[in-house]
Amino acid sequence: MSKISTNQVIESTDTNRIIGNIDGSKNSPTVIIFAGIHGNEIAGVKASKIVLHKIKENNISFEGNLFILLGNMNAIKKDIRFENVDLNRIWNKENIHENSRNNDVDNSEKLEQMDIYAQMKEIMQQTSGPFYFLDLHTTSAPSVPFITISDSLNNRKFSKKFPLPVVLGIEEYLDGPLLTFINEFGHIALGFEGGQHHDEKSVANCEAFIWKALVHSKCVSKKNIPDFKKYQKHLSDLCCKYEFFEIIYRYEIKKGEHFLMNPGFKNFEPVEKDQLLAKSDDYPVIAGENSRVFMPLYQEQGEDGYFLLSKISKFWLNSSIIARRLKINHFLRLIPGVHKDLDNNYTLIVDPKIAKYMAKDIFHLFGYRRQIFKDDKFHFIKRDRKVTDLL
Ligand SMILES: [Zn+2]
Repeated sequence: MSKISTNQVIESTDTNRIIGNIDGSKNSPTVIIFAGIHGNEIAGVKASKIVLHKIKENNISFEGNLFILLGNMNAIKKDIRFENVDLNRIWNKENIHENSRNNDVDNSEKLEQMDIYAQMKEIMQQTSGPFYFLDLHTTSAPSVPFITISDSLNNRKFSKKFPLPVVLGIEEYLDGPLLTFINEFGHIALGFEGGQHHDEKSVANCEAFIWKALVHSKCVSKKNIPDFKKYQKHLSDLCCKYEFFEIIYRYEIKKGEHFLMNPGFKNFEPVEKDQLLAKSDDYPVIAGENSRVFMPLYQEQGEDGYFLLSKISKFWLNSSIIARRLKINHFLRLIPGVHKDLDNNYTLIVDPKIAKYMAKDIFHLFGYRRQIFKDDKFHFIKRDRKVTDLL
């Protein structure tokens, strides 16, 4: 029998970061859900509470452990995306170290980050894993639900359980998303975008996603969930299918720039080269190539105007699985101008002259993403890695 404790599940003044947890057995999988990392995206919070309520009401028996954490609690109360800085852009080792050294942090999101990090660490010390991290979001534009992942094979395998589009490569365009940070410790981490911010359907989408994730992580058996088939069908009926996309471009809004997306774009909508997408200080912004528009910005706050996507072929996906399993990536180091970072096993340092002739695709094929320019060199970081403890 699983012990259930749900703090203020529905009655909600939400003063606790952990809005609910279920203790199964210590040596079984643990699902950790983040809801409301962006304060104006509360569909995930609502869905989490519904799931907790149904678990309690139906006395659903758990083998695994579940923890549901609120994200930006201050911003959730104020119904804003963030107060000082985007809480989903500050996750890196340097910030964590700096926060722990600094006693007088006055930045609202840094305080949230320190608390989330401490809670996460405590949870991971209590249970043995494997750990599955889910981060629930919504978008300002209308959208079919989709999954975002760092391109590791364990992330791919888990995201295959959902009949949804999967978007790779966001970490190459954004600094400091929470899940990219978690991935660096080898854990499975899926971002789920449930639909448009204030659409009630987004809540149902998040709920169906959570139930499926709990089953596929082997936290709970599907036979214990009343109406599990209904949740399966709900996701399958969303007109989506399991396909992979890759981000190929990000439009960054500069400080002081007046950016205005043209109205009516939907997520994943195909666009043609030179098609007018937006206006920047009254100048036209056009698509650089035939692609699909992704996360067009229809809200005040945010630095990403839009992204462009291209579809990834099955051939590429399968080739990359073979290349990674056979560990052919070691040969990359034999190329002149490419060498291993002696301080980090997962990083390749590449001379920019070489990188110019080698397509980024080659590195992607072998699972290297997150291209950083440091000390006049490119750093490519491998996404597949062994599980290690947090900092
Ligand atoms: Zn978000």
